[in-house]
Amino acid sequence: MTHWKKLTNPTYLGSYAFQPGEEKALTIASVGQEMVTNPAEPDKKENCIVAHFQQPEKPLILNKTNCKTIEKLTGTPDIEQWPGAGIILCVQRVNAFGELVEAVRIRPVKPYICSDCGGIITGYKDRSHAEIREHTRKEYGRQLCAVCATKAAEARRRNEPAEAQSEPAEMRPHRRRRTAAAEA
Ligand SMILES: [Zn+2]
Repeated sequence: MTHWKKLTNPTYLGSYAFQPGEEKALTIASVGQEMVTNPAEPDKKENCIVAHFQQPEKPLILNKTNCKTIEKLTGTPDIEQWPGAGIILCVQRVNAFGELVEAVRIRPVKPYICSDCGGIITGYKDRSHAEIREHTRKEYGRQLCAVCATKAAEARRRNEPAEAQSEPAEMRPHRRRRTAAAEA
């Protein structure tokens, strides 16, 4: 038996939307109750708690387990306080009515935060949030989101040739002091 919420519903996030082992780091934009229609049984509707995200990702129907995890992560059961919170989604095999099914679960840890903008580090193109964090720590000495990593790369490109052409900054005070000494 498969609960209809576990079925592939293209309107909402499900395990079908994940590559094997993939995690999605997302920021909650809003949480509210919505009437959800099961595509397999269009007559059947159910009132569900649904989370929408700031990133271009489908909304997620929140079951009790995931609501409890968000409550732990945010420290509040008040869904009005949840927008802005970062969560990490993954797919787990869970026992549902005596059968193992794949379900989207929220990991009980907070996502990595960007050192420059304070936003959460999400996946970008084919790189996971963990890979981006790892890469930026090696490359820039601090963990960055994809947007700030792009800015850091641009700043580096701008600075490198400029530094090579212009006089090193530490030489300037010397010359000024020398000029002042000559005038004195
Ligand atoms: Zn950032």
